Amino acid sequence: MDFLVVDILKSFLGEPRKHNEDTGQVAFDCPACSDEKGMADGDGKGNLEINYNRGMFKCWSCGETHHMHGPVIKLLKKYATPKNIRDYLLVKPDTDLITNKDKPKIILTLPEGYKKLSECTEKDYKSQQALAYLRKRGITDEIIEDYEIGYTYRGKYFNRVIIPSYDSEGELNYFIARWFTSEYTKLKYLNPEVEKQEIIFNEGKINWDSTIYIVEGATDHIVTPNSVPLLGKFLSPQLLELLHDKSQGFVVIVLDDDAYEDAKRLYRELNFGNLRDRIRLVKPPEGYDPSKIFEQLGNKGIVKLLMGAYKLEESEIY
Ligand SMILES: [Zn+2]
Repeated sequence: MDFLVVDILKSFLGEPRKHNEDTGQVAFDCPACSDEKGMADGDGKGNLEINYNRGMFKCWSCGETHHMHGPVIKLLKKYATPKNIRDYLLVKPDTDLITNKDKPKIILTLPEGYKKLSECTEKDYKSQQALAYLRKRGITDEIIEDYEIGYTYRGKYFNRVIIPSYDSEGELNYFIARWFTSEYTKLKYLNPEVEKQEIIFNEGKINWDSTIYIVEGATDHIVTPNSVPLLGKFLSPQLLELLHDKSQGFVVIVLDDDAYEDAKRLYRELNFGNLRDRIRLVKPPEGYDPSKIFEQLGNKGIVKLLMGAYKLEESEIY
């Protein structure tokens, strides 16, 4: 179906300037920019980028001034014929994940028996065990307090260190529950039944004006300043949209050392629209991820790691 969408786009935007079929990204001359310059046949810049898999578009030149960003259907309503719109609605990819904001919100609560470790005054055995686990990983009291890291020794999540996640309104939207005793368990991590692709971990802590680091796990997140964990290796449509809309600085991808190809894929997925040329990549040394670097070298190690951020060659991007 993809080529049908591209054909529809071509019929009112002309020939694409660039097209990456893997990521579903295609660039055209922006009609608004071209109009402004009085160039009816296009300005030759290819500033209008469309991701037809996600059904989103943005002009990286006039995106903000002319509101040239948003769902592709908005672009069609502005510039295409009614027939184009009808055709598009028939063949458009399913992007409900992005647009479905009416879904009932799941009310999540912290696990039964959760206690903040920073508030544990009585030295009971379990809290000491949880603390010992964190200490072994180099986690400081400051981090424990900052991220409200806690533990519980009863209920479904018993014997687990809890790292809660809060959204932009301070509401709990997720938590990580990591087994902390040395006894064997089948599940090292036991997480709540919330679709993790739909949440942004600790969104409330992100400073959009500063460099944002994209890491894999929550344990990398708590040791990497201004970071967002993917809880995996994939970028959710929500996070992609937020980064494009709100991020003012660089976005640096810091996946584990064995995920370089995934990191490059994320680079390509992010490097368009107003994030173009603001993506950087960090490759940890073999066998390392941020949490392991922090464990062995502390904050100094993390700073050194992040200072190694670099830009991909143009030939590696497309
Ligand atoms: Zn434009």
